[in-house]
Amino acid sequence: MGLIIKGNPVANAISETLIKEVDNFKIQGIIPKLVIIRVGAKASDLAYERGILKRCNGIGIETYVKEFPENISQREFIRELRRLNEDRNVDGIMVFRPLPKHLDENIIKYVITPEKDIDCFNPINLAKVMAGDSTGFAPCTPRAVMEILKYYNIDVEGKFSVVIGRSMIVGKPMSMLLLNENSTVTTCHSKTLHLDKICSQADILVVGIGKAEFIDSKYIKEGAVVIDVGINVDKYGRMCGDVDIKSCQWKNVIVTPVPGGVGTVTSSVLAQHVVEACKHKNKL
Ligand code: NAP
Repeated sequence: MGLIIKGNPVANAISETLIKEVDNFKIQGIIPKLVIIRVGAKASDLAYERGILKRCNGIGIETYVKEFPENISQREFIRELRRLNEDRNVDGIMVFRPLPKHLDENIIKYVITPEKDIDCFNPINLAKVMAGDSTGFAPCTPRAVMEILKYYNIDVEGKFSVVIGRSMIVGKPMSMLLLNENSTVTTCHSKTLHLDKICSQADILVVGIGKAEFIDSKYIKEGAVVIDVGINVDKYGRMCGDVDIKSCQWKNVIVTPVPGGVGTVTSSVLAQHVVEACKHKNKL
């Protein structure tokens, strides 16, 4: 039988540490503040937003949502973002992406100030991930994966890790974070030949492709650790991951579930980044 490792204990452990830190800040009259920017009201954004608000409120982080209409102009959007950059009371800014097509992310990503960019939108933060410089903010999802591995004492050093997916928000930074921890990493994508052969050699397999239960037992080595980042809806309308967890249980794998895995930890990592930004601003 395989072992399912859940996200909740990881998220709670992170939150407990943050609650203590934030309580200490409050004694000094400091309250960390996050602003979420959302354009429109996509169901998936709203679901993630509810999770963030609940998590941050529980920790003692003040959180505000700025909702803009779908037709907000680029000029207006940038003006609002600059205002938040300059607002001394704001520690972290999170922008829901992808933005509507008329808002040019390639311009906007340079506007958000790196010190408040807690979900790695600005390329300066991404460059810090590549450089192994821990003073920046990595994207929350791959960081959440690293927190899960750490919490469950899964050592990646020297191990062969395969990441499927090469997006800027999941796959590429994921590969870099594993490499920074001395794993030997291969990144795969939709054009990779012999994907099953490569994956089935992995000690650690991280999957973020957005294809419901695509990865089955032929992609997975006996005893591997499988981290499922995917969030999909199956043919019955239920939430599921990229990994067909049922097909690989006999392989003795350690696997994260969906729901209840990586996604659960992401909002705690976001809160962690807000607290870090607050500490940095206040030189704590
Ligand atoms: P994305 O931008 O669509 O990227 C998907 C990646 O998967 C691409 O690199 C693509 O390759 C690769 N891919 C697609 N089909 C493939 C296949 N059949 N074989 C091998 N590679 C394949 O998606 P994303 O934003 O990275 O998100 C990936 C998944 O993670 C989605 O399910 C998303 O909902 C989920 N997600 C979860 C969280 C969380 O907190 N748990 C956060 C963000 C995203 P190409 O580059 O060649 O197209």
